[in-house]
Amino acid sequence: MTPNPTFDLECNNIAKSFGKVRAVNDVSFTIPSGSFFSILGPSGCGKTTLMRMIAGFEEPTGGDIKIKGKSVLGTPPNKRNVKMVFQHLALFPMMNVYENIAYGLRCSGHDKDEIKRKVHDVLERIALPDVADREIHQLSGGQKQRIAIARCMVLDPDVLLLDEPLGALDLKLREAMKIELKLLQHQFNTTFIYITHDQSEALVMSDHVAVMNKGDFEQIGTPQELYHRPNTAFVAGFVGDSNRWTGRVKSGDATGGMAETDQGLPIKFTANGQSQISEGETVDIFVRPEFIRTLRGADRQSPVEPHETSIDGVVDSLLFNGANSRVLVRGSTGQLIEADVTLTGSGDLTPGEDVRLAWSSEQATCFARHEAS
Ligand code: ATP
Repeated sequence: MTPNPTFDLECNNIAKSFGKVRAVNDVSFTIPSGSFFSILGPSGCGKTTLMRMIAGFEEPTGGDIKIKGKSVLGTPPNKRNVKMVFQHLALFPMMNVYENIAYGLRCSGHDKDEIKRKVHDVLERIALPDVADREIHQLSGGQKQRIAIARCMVLDPDVLLLDEPLGALDLKLREAMKIELKLLQHQFNTTFIYITHDQSEALVMSDHVAVMNKGDFEQIGTPQELYHRPNTAFVAGFVGDSNRWTGRVKSGDATGGMAETDQGLPIKFTANGQSQISEGETVDIFVRPEFIRTLRGADRQSPVEPHETSIDGVVDSLLFNGANSRVLVRGSTGQLIEADVTLTGSGDLTPGEDVRLAWSSEQATCFARHEAS
């Protein structure tokens, strides 16, 4: 079979068992050349095992892995053109920046002048042209991240694997590094595969994200697809924030219907085409806080649209978060509902205030319970 140059990585029915533990379960996917691909999932879902198989540190118990169209099964890690950045970066503390970056080039037999040229070139590309002589301990956390990436990229890998590299950073630096990593990936135009349990990292940086759960991929899509059109209850709950209730379908057809939550709130929903839902079925219902309107004062009395669900309630508390804050409302049915409010809109809401919440049926996503996790 001729290699497929469109994809840097292809995994076909890849599986890994450790004794009775099925860590990765017949996973198949392709990654287009030069893209940023994240594998997102909770602890223990199999992300690291999958990455270790791509790197060659674990052999799959089934399936095939192709890099640039060629199977790499049985090829040891140092013979695959794949590099990996670990959470703790693994820079050599006894060597300066230049030596850290030059190390891999020396091992692969490049001559002195070529090493010098390549090291300086990669330092330019990561916008740190003046740190070659620095010791590792003289670098900031963000600079260390960039050197760890430069040390891999100087070897011109087909694929760069990043195993939660931002996990050890403080919050502010992590936010800055998300943007930095995306820019670096564009700059090198190399496929980055990033594993994380943090959905905000995956959504911000990636061209495509695979959501992993219990060894399987639940859905692969762009961040927008996962956010707006989740295929399963697991994805709807794991990607982005949502109000989540269980309920029972009271009426419905192919276009949508009405479900009543266990607390007795009737919610209109529009069928999303992903989940067959029939009358009487137990469902998980998801409504994102940002799609809920909070009506105050006289606005509470104005009629809502026929396709909307509305409920009266009392403000329980306000979670202040700058321009976009969140209000927790105790609905008349007793359930707590989260809604986003803007400072200019309803930011000065106070506990005890009467409000009405309303949202469109299109913003209520339902999944039959047998699909839930
Ligand atoms: P985390 O985010 O916590 O690192 P993960 O999603 O990367 O988790 P893995 O480390 O891939 O998950 O583990 C998947 C499953 O395989 C877990 O149940 C784990 O206990 C099991 N597992 C992983 N490595 C081994 C091993 N060498 N021997 C036995 N079981 C293992």
